[in-house]
Amino acid sequence: MKKFLIIFFSCLLALSVLTTGAIWLYNRQTKPSSPSADSSFAYQLAVTLNGDQDIEIEYGDVYKEPGAIAQLVGGNAALDVPVEIQGEVDSTKTGTYVVTYTAKSTGFTATAIRKVHIVDTQLPKITLTVDPYAYTLPGQPYQEEGFTAVDNYDGDLTDKVTFVEENGIMTYTVSDSSGNTFSTKRTIHYFDPGRPNLKLVGSDTHLVAQGDHFADPWVTAIDKNDGDITNSVYVEGCVDTDKPGRYTLTYTATNSYNYCSSITRTVIVFPMDCLVEKTEPPKAPTRPTTTKAPTAPTKPTETTIPTEPTYPKNCMIPEGGMPYEENGKTIYLTFDDGPSQHTKKLLDVLAQYDVKVSFFVKNSGYMDIIARAAREGHTVAAHTYSHDYNKIYTSENAFYADMSAIRTTIAMYTQEATSLIRFPGGSSNTISQLYNRGIMTRLAKALTEMGYTYFDWNVDSNDAGGAKTPDEVFKNITKGVKSRDESVVLQHDTKEFSVDAIERVIAWGLVNGYRFEPLTENSPTFHHPINN
Ligand code: ZN
Repeated sequence: MKKFLIIFFSCLLALSVLTTGAIWLYNRQTKPSSPSADSSFAYQLAVTLNGDQDIEIEYGDVYKEPGAIAQLVGGNAALDVPVEIQGEVDSTKTGTYVVTYTAKSTGFTATAIRKVHIVDTQLPKITLTVDPYAYTLPGQPYQEEGFTAVDNYDGDLTDKVTFVEENGIMTYTVSDSSGNTFSTKRTIHYFDPGRPNLKLVGSDTHLVAQGDHFADPWVTAIDKNDGDITNSVYVEGCVDTDKPGRYTLTYTATNSYNYCSSITRTVIVFPMDCLVEKTEPPKAPTRPTTTKAPTAPTKPTETTIPTEPTYPKNCMIPEGGMPYEENGKTIYLTFDDGPSQHTKKLLDVLAQYDVKVSFFVKNSGYMDIIARAAREGHTVAAHTYSHDYNKIYTSENAFYADMSAIRTTIAMYTQEATSLIRFPGGSSNTISQLYNRGIMTRLAKALTEMGYTYFDWNVDSNDAGGAKTPDEVFKNITKGVKSRDESVVLQHDTKEFSVDAIERVIAWGLVNGYRFEPLTENSPTFHHPINN
């Protein structure tokens, strides 16, 4: 049929040529392909596009070739001419494609072109991940919950997303390769989950008798979001009431946002016989002689907690323990003339109850233990190197040389230079009169001017005098301490019976609300009147 038409039109054209004798070709849309401007015969071969010369196709849509028609027109006749189409349109790639339409007929050629623009005008898209439980602490930078970005043409553009945080708003922006830009916003969820409010029920320090039951008064935990979360509190540490010592319980409460609070309680377990101030002869007939309390639950309570009126009630610890309540009074325990073979035992007891004291040391032959004393928080101060009255009190220079030697020794073991001192015999000693009259007056003044702080004491355990047993030492100390708000107690760690009194002194002190402190340069000095 096509062939037939071509033949038919060719015949028609030939007929026209014969009748007109001239050809004029004109293509109004494109340039004439074969100028033949002889105007006697006006034949035109023209290609006419179907549709627009410029066509825009959105990427993803299919380009359907609209085609073109060509006609050879002359006189009253119009002959359709086939059109050849060249040029490919790839609708999977943006860009401009040229399609050429060509018609040829008996020496005439006409062309037309069309521009097909494959464009991407669709915006890329950002999808924000929203975690319903996410929040940002006030004043803290936003922690990204996540996002993805895709584009119909470029695919995954997540890496190309830019974002900025401003005034509690996150703005995310991305552009595709065609310059289409998309933005979206996220409002930051600020929230402060807080921490549970954890409070001890009862005192922060509890005193318990050895072998007794410790009834933990527990804590309360209130959270502003979760309410009462006391039931979720857990405790670390335990109290072995069979073993005297100082125990720490750490309670922790955690809220549903995983924020926790912790609080601690100290429980001090004392040996039974430390708990009673013995105003009666030490061996009361109903007292159990062993300090080890029976552990069986069948233990009769009346044997472990004596109730005889001979023991003052205020020194007893009720079953289940009692809270430690400070009475505002302070005891400074001091030990002179050591260290000795008994100092280790003393440090062990002090560590057990976490009580700090002060040592005025001389060159005793046990010097290495002062390193431990200093390390454990005790004050190590100077008491002269030789403690030899007839040497140190012969002259000021002799005293200074001796004091300098012990301070050097202390510094060697403790890495600290002490300015705290105590005179052998105290500043009130009269023995120095035998060697140099007036030397105490001069030394006290000069040493103070040099920046030293010298200490005497206001409570004497008398362990260098009449006291010969732990019981007597205990009695002398507690008697002296009771009437004072601040007590600097004189003891000697060279005396084993004096060291053996310490556990009871500590127990008695804590049960009655005293604080134990080591001496510092700001502590009370309780200077004696100088007698020489
Ligand atoms: Zn001394």
